Amino acid sequence: MLAKERVPVLIVGAGGAGLSLSLLLRQQGIGSVLVEQRADVSWYPRARNLNFRTLEVFRGLGLERQVIAAGSHVSRVFRAETLASPEREELLAVDAATRIVDHPEILTPEPPSWYCPQSRLEPILLAAATERGSDVRYNTELVSFTQDGRRVTATIRNRSTGTTSLIRADYLAACDGAHSQVRDALGVKTEGLGELDEHYIFVYFRADWGELVRGYEADAILVEQPDFRGFFLITDVDRGMLLIQPSPSNQSSTQTYTTERFREMVSEGLGKPDLAVEIVDVVHWQPAQLVAEHFQQGRVLLVGDAAHTMPPKLGLGVNTAIQSAQNLAWKLAAVLKGHASPQLLATYEAERRPVGLLASEQSLVGPAASLLTPDSSDKLLAARRRVPLFSLIVGYRYRSQAVLSGGNGLPLPVQSELFEKPGQLTALPGTRLPHLWVEQHGQRVSTLDLLDGRFVLLVGPGGRLWQKAAPTVAASRGIELVAYRLAADGDLLDREDGWRTKLGMSAAGAVLVRPDGFVAWRGTLPINPERKFGQVLSAILGPPALDQPRLRTSKIGPPRNDTRYRRQYAFVTFLSHPRKPEPTLR
Ligand SMILES: Cc1cc2nc3c(=O)[nH]c(=O)nc-3n(C[C@H](O)[C@H](O)[C@H](O)COP(=O)(O)OP(=O)(O)OC[C@H]3O[C@@H](n4cnc5c(N)ncnc54)[C@H](O)[C@@H]3O)c2cc1C
Repeated sequence: MLAKERVPVLIVGAGGAGLSLSLLLRQQGIGSVLVEQRADVSWYPRARNLNFRTLEVFRGLGLERQVIAAGSHVSRVFRAETLASPEREELLAVDAATRIVDHPEILTPEPPSWYCPQSRLEPILLAAATERGSDVRYNTELVSFTQDGRRVTATIRNRSTGTTSLIRADYLAACDGAHSQVRDALGVKTEGLGELDEHYIFVYFRADWGELVRGYEADAILVEQPDFRGFFLITDVDRGMLLIQPSPSNQSSTQTYTTERFREMVSEGLGKPDLAVEIVDVVHWQPAQLVAEHFQQGRVLLVGDAAHTMPPKLGLGVNTAIQSAQNLAWKLAAVLKGHASPQLLATYEAERRPVGLLASEQSLVGPAASLLTPDSSDKLLAARRRVPLFSLIVGYRYRSQAVLSGGNGLPLPVQSELFEKPGQLTALPGTRLPHLWVEQHGQRVSTLDLLDGRFVLLVGPGGRLWQKAAPTVAASRGIELVAYRLAADGDLLDREDGWRTKLGMSAAGAVLVRPDGFVAWRGTLPINPERKFGQVLSAILGPPALDQPRLRTSKIGPPRNDTRYRRQYAFVTFLSHPRKPEPTLR
């Protein structure tokens, strides 16, 4: 008999998406089991730069200082003959190439971008998740799963002992990366160009090269040798990666390069023949652009690269992954707690799929492309179709059932228009709450600091009635909400009258902010604020739990007698060892 466990959410994959989701669920008081097939956190740098929206997510989790301390200024790109050569030419100041707006300090309390590679980020997220009580299991893989209208039943296997066990979960979050087996097992199709005709080889090595890269720890250094060119990326003083792009003429030969040849290349690139070099791993990689046609199938949700995979040319992959996790976490929590109808989960796809599509398409070109594949950019995405980085990071507007228009209080109609201009980021429903400095108990805080996983209601100076009514109405549904009045005699001192200019409120108006920091609704004072606020919550979350079937018998997922059910939800067995596990180093 297999051992059985019961858990609200089973998360598969401990990359940026899975670890963040585990933390965000924990913040909402929801337990999860996170299984990761790797033996330990990855020391491969991969995603290197975080954008300010991601830093804001970590700010809400109280982790942004650690992330900032672990990283440094955003990467620059240099060219040198070898790492030992005294001359280095700066090819690309990435912070200039990825400038988001002229005055980022108006937009965010965070640096616009920050270098913090996955090899440093994941240990921070893992430590916080474990400290906060999340159950994270490395060396553990999802082997198979089934789902019905009531639950997901998964078989997991401990890769060290070979022991298998069953987990029953209300929901399964597939954060299992670009080659998501969960996505494939569900038969969810993808759209996009798929794997691009660009080939890279990542050569991971160990060498005592600290002195050669001191002062360049965050940077990429292109070395150009007579017989190869490649980027050195630094993991640590004793570890790094050489990224080679084989030219089309010698692509096939790279498959047959020997470990000795890779060692020679690293050594030649370092320019110090006496330095001992050990090749740890060699990975052949092709970037891909694909987006799942659906982000949800019954009780299974695709998150991160499993939902939207993009080339790293704009550095958006892990950022979009973490932001999708944030969008999903509070919705899962609200449904699991019975505060919202399971239909709320459909807004995850409605809101994040357009963003994933846009980010993946726009990532076909970018600063890195001009260095690696100088001719490819225009072919993949015409210049007229490109949108500013600002729009990709924060300039979009969600349109779903979980966003109400101020005027009639109805859900915003779904339109193709995803963008708002910077000047229009003024707390319009569906956009990210604007950053505004205010004073709370004599301390300067950002409006974004008010977001701690709860709903937040901001009211203007004359909004006392809102402030009284809203928390009571929310509490009657079990929802935690905190209301702040922006006024000289209120909770937040707003010296610049930002409630009017940046939040677009009337003096007695209110802005309801969701736990993910997006505005759900903005309105003026009605005759009966209690009733109005109850209607607003019901429109966003669905009828209160008492009025709907209990979660365990909810109608999510296909009916049992549906023939598609048997096909798509049949017992799925994965290949046990699909890819080579990464070596682990502590
Ligand atoms: C060279 C390179 C450079 C990049 N640069 C950037 C950048 O600058 N900025 C940026 O934002 N993004 C960048 N990216 C993209 C970024 O790495 C990905 O978008 C990001 O890792 C996605 O996170 P994720 O959590 O969705 O998936 P992953 O990080 O891929 O995590 C998925 C995890 O699931 C695990 N898993 C899979 N199947 C199972 C199973 N059956 N059971 C248990 N565990 C399983 C895997 O082992 C893996 O750890 C880069 C990528 C590459 C390759």
